[in-house]
Amino acid sequence: MESTAYSDIISLAIEILRKHPLCDRCLGRMFARLGMGLSNKDRGRALKLLIVLHLHNKILSGDQEAVQVFKEIAPNIGEHARGLYEELFKEELRVRRCSICGNRLDNVITTASIIAYNKLWEWDIDRFLVGARAPFDTIRAEESIKTEYGLVYSESIKNEVKREVGKKLQDYGLTVDFDNPEGVVVIDLWEPHVTVQVNPVFFKGFYWKNGRNISQSYWPTRWGLKYEFSVEQATWGLKDTMKAEKTVIHASGREDADARMLGTGRPLVIEVKRPRKRRISPSEAETALNSGGRGFVHFRITGFASRFDVRLYKNELSNIRKLYKALVVSESPLSLSDLSKLETEFSERVISQRTPARVLHRRSDLERTRKVYKIKNISVSRHVFYSFILAEGGLYVKELISGDEGRTKPSFADVLNSPTYCVDLDVIGIDSEIPGQL
Ligand SMILES: [Zn+2]
Repeated sequence: MESTAYSDIISLAIEILRKHPLCDRCLGRMFARLGMGLSNKDRGRALKLLIVLHLHNKILSGDQEAVQVFKEIAPNIGEHARGLYEELFKEELRVRRCSICGNRLDNVITTASIIAYNKLWEWDIDRFLVGARAPFDTIRAEESIKTEYGLVYSESIKNEVKREVGKKLQDYGLTVDFDNPEGVVVIDLWEPHVTVQVNPVFFKGFYWKNGRNISQSYWPTRWGLKYEFSVEQATWGLKDTMKAEKTVIHASGREDADARMLGTGRPLVIEVKRPRKRRISPSEAETALNSGGRGFVHFRITGFASRFDVRLYKNELSNIRKLYKALVVSESPLSLSDLSKLETEFSERVISQRTPARVLHRRSDLERTRKVYKIKNISVSRHVFYSFILAEGGLYVKELISGDEGRTKPSFADVLNSPTYCVDLDVIGIDSEIPGQL
């Protein structure tokens, strides 16, 4: 029984090789899922040697057809057939090139592995993944042989390249990581052209802004910087330390440039793009960040983050409760009962806001609602008071106070029946870490 199965594979391989010259790897790949722990090169070589032995045996027993078959097939088998061929026919064997890879595959795997290793080393990457691309002609040549002979145990050339290069990189001491690689090696056949997609490093933590007129994003304009300093610029210390191309901040919402960010700090994820030095601890990252803060921006880094955290921080966390401290001026003098009336009116109150006039030039005009949970006022003088406002994230606080010429309703100005302005604004708490209770 077993010998029948063997001769079936041999006859199948003979049929393929009579028509198509194939290198050891490309022949072996047609039977890739037979036998365990072998390379396709081993499989192809074994099949070719067996074919040579099988036909030689027949030739020795006087089988004239076997002589013909061997003469036909030897140039497609290649070097493994040379000795017998030249002995039998007294002429040099002219080997044909593999019809799928042109005999390049073996070299390409070795070369690509070395190039890939050097590039990964350059980018300080230990945990990698390999991807491969092959030109259409190659894929078509391979597919047509598989279809012609119904080769159900075959695998694709891209798979072989990915696996073989991956194995070599692991032999060099690197680690394959399917879930969260630090970089992805992409091999383009047939150059080989090797590129490395360098994955970013993410840190999570908080930032504080002790000064005013500091934007969250770096904001260059045609006339220079819109604000002299930004939270983003403060992260450049980390960019330099990690020899990265860029840092991007993903914060849970943003305060106005002229508002300070105090108290609990604002949660953020810092994305470090294309770092050449990536082995740095969260506390080293924190030190590097604070060296870039000029004393106005501070960071606390609590750990590494992932791409998933970016979405969480930007979307879900951006609408959580915020606590603001506003310094408010009213044109009309105010009594203490005016201030307590404000507190009553803005308890659990839904505010309707159209996009503020001051940002209309860069945002579309929408109407939205945000909730004010509670406010607490402290009088400073008859025209000035502090208002502590606990509200849903995304509320435009300055407009809640001024009314923005009717675009925000209701507003402090409405309730007090007096033109009212916010002169200073600080964010002092975000979500569950809001200090004390109002
Ligand atoms: Zn080949």
